[in-house]
Amino acid sequence: MGLRSSGYKLFIAEEVVTTAGDGKGVCGATLTVALRDGAVLPPASPSVVTADLSGAYSGNTKNKRGHAEIDALYQFFKAAGWSDAVIGSYDLEIDCPAKPCCVRCSAILGLLGVSAAPNQRKTTGTMGKTAYGAHPDFTKYLARRLYEKETKIRVEIYGWAC
Ligand SMILES: [Zn+2]
Repeated sequence: MGLRSSGYKLFIAEEVVTTAGDGKGVCGATLTVALRDGAVLPPASPSVVTADLSGAYSGNTKNKRGHAEIDALYQFFKAAGWSDAVIGSYDLEIDCPAKPCCVRCSAILGLLGVSAAPNQRKTTGTMGKTAYGAHPDFTKYLARRLYEKETKIRVEIYGWAC
């Protein structure tokens, strides 16, 4: 579907073929956040975070906010107050060493301009048929950032209605 395939192509990582059952078990991911060269954080306001948020954000499936990659992004976005101006001041890189990023996560990472760690792999597999489970705040942010409706994100990326 549209957003899934375009985002998947934008996420540059080695593509591997996965087999059924790869969705089992917990999996961790690290999001490395670094202030972009020359980035100037937006002026302080009650709703805008001006502290330097650079660092490593550890995501895990066991936090139940979706796959590990998305959990890590959720934590950073939340720390940034879901502000595009703040989030856009950082370069983001994902490292999920145990497993390739599934097609849904890869699409989201690609659409958000997140780069892959040097040995990161991706797959067109979905890692299971269960509901994707991204946090509602994350879906809301994604829709705003991509200028799309939340329904379209759910249908085309998460695939609930496919
Ligand atoms: Zn995934």
